[in-house]
Amino acid sequence: MDPPDDFPLARAIRYLEFISYYEKELFLSPQTEGSKMPPIPLAKSSTSDLSTSGLDPYPPYTPHFSLQEMSETIKGCLRCDLGTGRTKFVFGVGRQDARVVFIGEGPGAEEDKRGEPFVGRAGALLNKLIESVGWQREQVYIANMVKCRPPGNRDPLPAELEACRPYLLEQLRLIQPQWLVAVGRIAGQSLLGTTAPLKQLRGRVHQFAGINLWVVYHPAALLRNENLMPEAYQDFKLLNQMVESGKATP
Ligand code: SF4
Repeated sequence: MDPPDDFPLARAIRYLEFISYYEKELFLSPQTEGSKMPPIPLAKSSTSDLSTSGLDPYPPYTPHFSLQEMSETIKGCLRCDLGTGRTKFVFGVGRQDARVVFIGEGPGAEEDKRGEPFVGRAGALLNKLIESVGWQREQVYIANMVKCRPPGNRDPLPAELEACRPYLLEQLRLIQPQWLVAVGRIAGQSLLGTTAPLKQLRGRVHQFAGINLWVVYHPAALLRNENLMPEAYQDFKLLNQMVESGKATP
């Protein structure tokens, strides 16, 4: 996945587009002003990484210099109830200059244990799909809508998605990707602000914050129904063709 010749220029344009969206979302919206966030009662958890005290439970939604610095700053977050139940904070993994960012809904049990998104069986299948088009997991960035595991692998609640969304936006501001890939229905619906079913979201190029957005099956769904695998491979093939050609038409 080598950058095209116009990569610096294209990157600068994407950056400007995203900055405008980001400022609107983060700095003009009252809900994003940290001081106005309602206090969230802290619950005790014996297994969670909250024992690493001294971390800010309400880190401000402000810009950061790098993904690493951002992760260190926000890893004690307790802005929503998910924070009190986590074992490990799952920030994201990959290159800060990735052209493609994969976004799932939230960490599952294995991710919560290891502190990394898309590991375990579903993660292995996502890696396989990424590799099927000649890319490597290390070349992309992988994150989730929420950074702490929803109990029992339930879907993240709207309030949890809202509380964590500024962190995702900040990650995207730092990465400035060319493409976003919503992994599964929940991530697709949440990013696009729709309740449309997955079959209506797949196969079309959407826009999120001025960035191309493609929606694919969640690997956990593919593990439950292997008949969907040919469509999943096709989705990745089309994604690869669009990324490599610079054309946002499947
Ligand atoms: S899910 Fe996001 S907002 Fe909620 S506690 Fe975790 S990092 Fe904070």
